Amino acid sequence: MGKINGFLEKGREELRYREVDVRLSDYNEVTIDRTVEELAEQGGRCMECGTPFCHSIGCPIVNLIPEWNNAIWRGQWREAFERLEITNNFPEFTGRICPAPCETSCTLSINDAPVTIKQNERAIIEKAFDEGWVVPRPPRVETGKTVAVIGSGPAGLAAAQQLRRAGHRVTVFEKNRKIGGLLRYGIPDFKLEKRIIDRRLEQLIAEGVVFETGVNIGEDISIRYLRNKNDAILFAMGAGQPRELPVPGRNLKGIHFAMDFLSQSNRRQNGELASGIDARGKTVLVIGGGDTGSDCIGTARRQGASEIYQYEIMPKPMVWNETWNPSWPNWPNILRTSSSHKEGCRREWNIETTSFEGTGGVVSRGKFRRIEWTLGVKGEKPSISVIPGSDFSLDVDLVLLAMGFVHFEHSKALLDQGIELDERGNIKTDGYHTDIEGFFAAGDVNVGASLVVRALNHGRLAAREIHQWLIKELKHQ
Ligand SMILES: Cc1cc2nc3c(=O)[nH]c(=O)nc-3n(C[C@H](O)[C@H](O)[C@H](O)COP(=O)(O)OP(=O)(O)OC[C@H]3O[C@@H](n4cnc5c(N)ncnc54)[C@H](O)[C@@H]3O)c2cc1C
Ligand code: SF4
Repeated sequence: MGKINGFLEKGREELRYREVDVRLSDYNEVTIDRTVEELAEQGGRCMECGTPFCHSIGCPIVNLIPEWNNAIWRGQWREAFERLEITNNFPEFTGRICPAPCETSCTLSINDAPVTIKQNERAIIEKAFDEGWVVPRPPRVETGKTVAVIGSGPAGLAAAQQLRRAGHRVTVFEKNRKIGGLLRYGIPDFKLEKRIIDRRLEQLIAEGVVFETGVNIGEDISIRYLRNKNDAILFAMGAGQPRELPVPGRNLKGIHFAMDFLSQSNRRQNGELASGIDARGKTVLVIGGGDTGSDCIGTARRQGASEIYQYEIMPKPMVWNETWNPSWPNWPNILRTSSSHKEGCRREWNIETTSFEGTGGVVSRGKFRRIEWTLGVKGEKPSISVIPGSDFSLDVDLVLLAMGFVHFEHSKALLDQGIELDERGNIKTDGYHTDIEGFFAAGDVNVGASLVVRALNHGRLAAREIHQWLIKELKHQ
């Protein structure tokens, strides 16, 4: 049992951020860690409820949250780390960039502020790295089975680590020059510094995971060859096909997919590129109001954009300034303002883009109109109506399309395998097994664009299924 009355005596301490003018001068993480003493106090706010919703329905990887909250309050940080390691291969990623559905389902969120679960998670793993508790755990027995993992995002990495620890020989193939998927090339350093990925990769390499970078499976190596050389294949290629905006003028220069902008910026930061799409001195329009759009804003701001607009077609969510969750224990649909939004941008909702115009082939203006949404009743789809006379234009120099992703990149090499896809174009699986024996899929390639914590979870679960399948094969030999 945690601290009796802990939550009555102590309020929630929110995450702290570096001052805007300071953090805009670099790309380093915007948050400031609280001390372990402060977070031990926060752990003491956990009520250790009989039914911990944070663990059971909040956290996709079912982290043992009440147990580690109790442990840190008692100063048992090593114990907390050991409990955390059971369910989460990479708490340093989730402790930084998870949207923390655990906190919205914390029982305290019914009428109070939730426990700082995400900050606690980050503090536990950072202390573990500082103390040298994060060590390689190579397998004691080798099975002689081989698995090829295609894609090195959180799904591929989690699967690779689990499979290697189970004794299989694992090779991760990545088409980019560096490992990490969207953790490295999508998410900017100001949310997740790349040294955090490199630190973890050292452990995987020491455990015996082999990484092959700069290899595009399907182009450089055929899938058939890979299958012949391995006992199982895991597709973990993410959902890289961005949603298009098919309006007149779309092909003008200066209109880019958000991921082209973000990946170039990340490559510039890590020294892979000398130059790229640049927002310096430009009026930037980000179309799309989600996480990717927000990352574009923070990046454009650091590059020196003069003005930044963000237009979203959906209605503005409810403004909610209370600490408790109006939809407890579910995820609330409320207005979220990220650290990047606070660095300066103008946000508008209910806006539809109708066309772009250019000068000399380069975008110079966007045209828009305002719309209204009518919510569908009894399962009908919501409908859109245009507000008459609401057309307007905006002079822009750079447009970033951040309207989400439709599915994985449908290369011919992959489609030629004949693996069944679902109605949205993702790889269809039963559990994590595709319809072709020995081929598995996990993460965004399987469920569509989602979250790091879900990809991590799917990677772990797919690894378990692959392991069971391989072991069955071994028994039959
Ligand atoms: C800009 C942005 C910001 C985000 N921010 C957050 C956030 O703050 N919090 C959060 O929880 N989620 C966030 N997400 C979502 C999250 O990053 C993804 O859900 C997660 O990374 C998916 O993991 P994955 O392993 O399935 O795929 P990915 O991370 O996409 O990795 C797939 C990898 O496969 C490689 N690959 C693809 N095809 C091949 C091939 N043929 N051969 C070899 N390699 C191949 C790709 O190069 C890539 O490295 C964000 C996404 C974006 C785009
Ligand atoms: S992984 Fe996400 S949901 Fe789970 S405990 Fe950490 S922050 Fe919460």
